[in-house]
Amino acid sequence: MDEKSFKLDIVAPDRILYKGRVYSFSAPGEVGAFQVLHNHAPIISSLVPGEIKFTDEQRNTAYYAVSGGFVEVRDNRVLALVDAAEKAGDIDVERARKSRERALERIKSRKTEIDFERARRSLERANNRLQVAQRIHEDAVIS
Ligand code: ATP
Repeated sequence: MDEKSFKLDIVAPDRILYKGRVYSFSAPGEVGAFQVLHNHAPIISSLVPGEIKFTDEQRNTAYYAVSGGFVEVRDNRVLALVDAAEKAGDIDVERARKSRERALERIKSRKTEIDFERARRSLERANNRLQVAQRIHEDAVIS
C-alpha cells in the first residue's frame, strides 16, 4: 500500500462534511467507481448515487452515501463537491425507508414522464442510503 497521504475536502452546499488527509479515496464516477491514491493524475468526474469511501491517517475507513456532484483531483488534493452526502452512521434509515415507499407509490401511479424520472431518482437515492447504512455493522467505521 502506498504510505503517502493527500488532502481531501468533501463539501456540501450547506457545510463542509470532511476536511483532512487520507491515504485512499474512492467514489462512484459517472463512468464507474474510481480510486485515488497519492500522486494520482488530474481528473474531473461527475458523481452518481453511490458510496464514497476513504481511509484516513489513523487507518480508519469511512463510508458516505453520496447523491451526486463532482470530484476534482489535482496536485495531491481531492475536492468532492456533493449535492448531499451522509456518513454511514448518520443515515436516518427510517427516513430513507419512507422516501423509498413514497417513490415506489409515485412510480406505480406514473402520472407524467417527469414525475416518473423524479421518483426514479428519489428511489435510487433512498436505496443507496439504505445500502450504505449497512456499513455500520462492519468494523473500523468512522461514524
Ligand atoms: P427525502 O425524500 O427523505 O427528503 P431526498 O433524497 O429527497 O430524501 P435530498 O434532497 O437528497 O433528500 O437531501 C436533503 C438533505 O437531507 C441533505 O442534507 C441530505 O444529506 C439529507 N438527507 C436526506 N435523506 C437522509 C437520510 N435518510 N438520512 C440523513 N440525512 C438525509
